[in-house]
Amino acid sequence: MGVKILFMTKTTPKFKLSKRLDLIPPYLFARIDEKKAAAKARGVDVINMGIGDPDQPTLQAVVDEMHKAIDDSSTHDYPPYTGTLDYRKACVEWTAKRFGIKEFDPVTECLATIGSKESIHNSFLAFVDPGDYTLIPDPGYPVYNTATIFAGGIPHKMPLLAENDFLPDFDKIPVDIRNKAKMLWLNYPNNPTSATAPLGFFQEAVDFCTKYGIVLCHDQSYSEIYFDNYTSPSVFNAKGAEDIAIEFHSFSKGFNMTGWRIGWVLGNKEAIQALSQVKTNVDSGAFKAIQRAAIAGLNIPQQEITKKNEEVYAVRRNAIMSGLKELGWNFTAPKATMFVWAPIPTSYTSSAEFCEKLLDECGIVVSPGNAFGNVGEGFFRIAMTSEVSRIEEAFKRMKEKNIRFDS
Ligand SMILES: *Cc1c(COP(=O)(O)O)cnc(C)c1O
Repeated sequence: MGVKILFMTKTTPKFKLSKRLDLIPPYLFARIDEKKAAAKARGVDVINMGIGDPDQPTLQAVVDEMHKAIDDSSTHDYPPYTGTLDYRKACVEWTAKRFGIKEFDPVTECLATIGSKESIHNSFLAFVDPGDYTLIPDPGYPVYNTATIFAGGIPHKMPLLAENDFLPDFDKIPVDIRNKAKMLWLNYPNNPTSATAPLGFFQEAVDFCTKYGIVLCHDQSYSEIYFDNYTSPSVFNAKGAEDIAIEFHSFSKGFNMTGWRIGWVLGNKEAIQALSQVKTNVDSGAFKAIQRAAIAGLNIPQQEITKKNEEVYAVRRNAIMSGLKELGWNFTAPKATMFVWAPIPTSYTSSAEFCEKLLDECGIVVSPGNAFGNVGEGFFRIAMTSEVSRIEEAFKRMKEKNIRFDS
C-alpha cells in the first residue's frame, strides 16, 4: 500500500527520471486499488467487480504437478530462453487441436512467455521504431498503448463502437497511417467490451495486414471463457494468417492462473524470431517447474476447462444481466469473457462520476470505461469475479439508492 501511495503522489526526486515516464498514463488498476482500499479503511463492505482476476483456484492437476516439479532439482536452473521443448510441443499441439489449425513448429514458431503482458510489451520493441504507427483498439487493454509509447511509436486508436459490434472499421484508418503502421492489435473475445469476432472479420484483418505489410497480433487471453453454444475462433482459422500473424495465449484467465505468469505465443516464424530476439535480451525464461505444471493444465481435456468456466461465469453473467435489466438496462448478454460492458445512465456526465457514485454510495467497485481509452467514455465494465450472492447484493444496493438506467 505504501508503495502505491508513493507512486500516486507527485514528489520531486533528487535525481532525473526518463521523459518517457511522463508520457505514460497512470496504470488504471493502481488507482482503483487505492480507492477501494480507502473505502475498506472506512469500514465499507466492498463488492469488487473491478479487476479481471479470477476468484477460482487453479485446477488441482496443475497444482499437483507443480508440487512434483518443484521437488525435482532439475527444474531449478535457468530455463531455455524460448521455453522447454516439451512445453512448446504441448502448446502447439493443444492450439492445433483446440482451433482445428495447423500444428506450428514448436522450435521456430512458438515461444513460452512469462504471461502475455510481458510478451505483448516486448513485441512492440521488435516491430516499432520511433515515429512508427501502431493500430490499436480503443477501448482496449492498456498495454498496447503504453508499449507503443515506450517504443517511441504513435498509437492510432481504432474505435470499437457499439453500432459496429465493437469491431474496428479498417476503412476508417487514413491511408497514410496504414502505410506507416507496423502492428495491428486485435483481442477477441474482447476486454473490455466482451465482444466476439466472427471468422469473416479475422479474414478482413488478415487481408488488410497483408496488403499493407503490417504484423497482425491477436491477443487470445479469453479464448477459453465462452458460453451458450459459442466457441471462439483463432486468427489462424483465417486464410493466409500464418504469413502475417502471431497469437498470444495465456493461462491466466481461462485456467485461473494469473499469479503463475505463464503463456505462449505462436505463429509466423519471422515474427516469432523477432520477438525471441528481444526476449533473450530482456528476460531469462519462465520457471521450468511452472512450464511443467502448465503442461498438466493443457493435458486436461479442453472441454472440461471450458465447461468449468461456463459453470462459474454463465450464472454470474445471468445474475448481472437480470440485475441490470431490472434497473432499466437493455442490451444483449455477452457470449464470452468474464466481463459485462454497459452504458452509464445519461444523467451522469462521465464514467468516472458514475463509478465513483457506485463506490461511494453502494460500496461497489467497477471499472470506468474511459480507463481503457477515450472511446470507452460513457461505459463501465463489470467483472464476473464475485459470487452470485455478492452480485445480487450489489444490485440490491443499487436499487435501494435508486441507481438506474434512465433512457
Ligand atoms: C489479462 C489480460 C492480459 C494479460 O494476461 P497475462 O497473461 O496475465 O499477462 C492480456 N491481454 C488482455 C486483453 C487481458 O485482459
